[in-house]
Amino acid sequence: MDWWAAANSLNDSRPRRSPAGRTPRLGILHVASEAEPWAKTGGLADVLGALPAALEALGHRVTTVLPLYRGAVLPGAERRPLSIRLGALTWQGSLHVLALSPGRRVVGVDVPEWFDRDGLYASGGHDYPDNAERFAGLAHAALDFAQQDLDGGRIDIVHAHDWQAGLVPALIRQQPARWTRVARAGLVMTIHNLAYQGLFPKEVVGRLGLGWDLFTVALGEFWDQFSYLKCGIASSDMVTTVSPTYARESTQPALGFGFDGVLRALGDRYVGILNGIDTTVWDPASDPRLPARYSALDLTGKQVNKRALLDRFGLPVGDDALARPVIGMVSRLVSQKGFDLMLDAADELMALDATWVVLGSGDAAYEARLQDLARRVPSRIGVHIGFDEGLAHLIEAGADVFLMPSRFEPCGLNQMYSLRYGTVPVVRAVGGLDDTVRPYRARARRANGFKFRDATPDALIRTIRQVLRVHKRPERWAALMREGMSDDHSWGPSAREYVKVYRQARYAAALRWAD
Ligand code: ADP
Repeated sequence: MDWWAAANSLNDSRPRRSPAGRTPRLGILHVASEAEPWAKTGGLADVLGALPAALEALGHRVTTVLPLYRGAVLPGAERRPLSIRLGALTWQGSLHVLALSPGRRVVGVDVPEWFDRDGLYASGGHDYPDNAERFAGLAHAALDFAQQDLDGGRIDIVHAHDWQAGLVPALIRQQPARWTRVARAGLVMTIHNLAYQGLFPKEVVGRLGLGWDLFTVALGEFWDQFSYLKCGIASSDMVTTVSPTYARESTQPALGFGFDGVLRALGDRYVGILNGIDTTVWDPASDPRLPARYSALDLTGKQVNKRALLDRFGLPVGDDALARPVIGMVSRLVSQKGFDLMLDAADELMALDATWVVLGSGDAAYEARLQDLARRVPSRIGVHIGFDEGLAHLIEAGADVFLMPSRFEPCGLNQMYSLRYGTVPVVRAVGGLDDTVRPYRARARRANGFKFRDATPDALIRTIRQVLRVHKRPERWAALMREGMSDDHSWGPSAREYVKVYRQARYAAALRWAD
């Protein structure tokens, strides 16, 4: 029986189009803790900002459920009452349901006690002590919404993102009679970063009334703790991650964070799909955040942005400075991103003929080391600690080179923004960085950047020296820029890959029910 026949053998009498080479219109429910433009700490938000629109463009109906954090508003949204019981306690709030376009809605989960706070997951570097409640609450809210949203049409796919939504597929599998509107949906889980596993002491299982049947090695138990991510992986029909290389790397002990065995066991139910980028937001030809716009056909605006960038960081802007390459970094300051490599190599890097600009926030130790470096060599490096979208755009546009020396990188978005902005990426050959950057070599034809393999300061220094040598050869440098600017990283192709996964998930769900 093929998937279509299997899906139609379900106890659902509604007529549907035969696929006949075409994908039937799917109803897709995303659950995530971040989505642009309402809440963002990293790439997850960019994905949830853009993927729903790309799926809608392919003809599907998409609803995204996320927490309504402090400051986020959905003007004109319809309010629906919400009451969530977890163990002995009940929380009151509301759902804000907003249609963004004919095929796309967003649903904000407004429970002020959980979400009206300074940070999304943490404050002052410490995770909120009630994160287990908060994101069990998100899962319940999403399922309550699905159960009551009778006018929103059928839900074929429930797509949970990262540990914060990991309980969603687990609760559906645990209580199909309670969540009837999604019980037969295909369940998809996407891992955006395996380093974050939603690990809690096992007592949360009892306290939040989750049911001890979830606390088994086959489901949520992870070395005597309870993992929301593992629950989600084990309960889903299909599991994806955000690049093909990371899908392979994460099944190996070195980068599997203890989950490699769980992921290996999925076999071909675990798939890597490269993220796209939002090419309407990240487009140097129309970016309203830039002092000057430009394209591959006319790059003069890039030089204007370079001057504005140096000026913004209080760095020299004379002819010498403008001729010198600017190396940019925009990142969360966490060990994943390889800042220790850059900082350990700093004395040698700062002696080279380049200027550095760094935007980031995160671990206090990295923040302090970077600020200290900027105090020591103020003419060579500017550092801005904070989260600043506008400045991130200016760095992408004004820098010549973009550095990502990550220790691991599930996908990485900045290298793709850099390619589009004619800013040549220099990356460690891991995860999505390896999948998107084609390294410069003497006679390499389609090179768009530089890569190094060893996670050592020496390897980084060697590569930056090579970058500076090539930068002195204008025609070679222009070829690198042109190659990168012509790469297509729009969401269309990736969204089509997700639709394939959705079909497989529906088929698997149908088989589950046929058993
Ligand atoms: P991750 O999700 O691991 O943080 P990605 O490269 O996938 O890494 O995505 C990071 C996203 O967050 C990019 O859109 C990047 O521009 C943005 N970003 C990270 N740090 C900052 C910052 N300090 N200011 C502005 N944007 C930032």
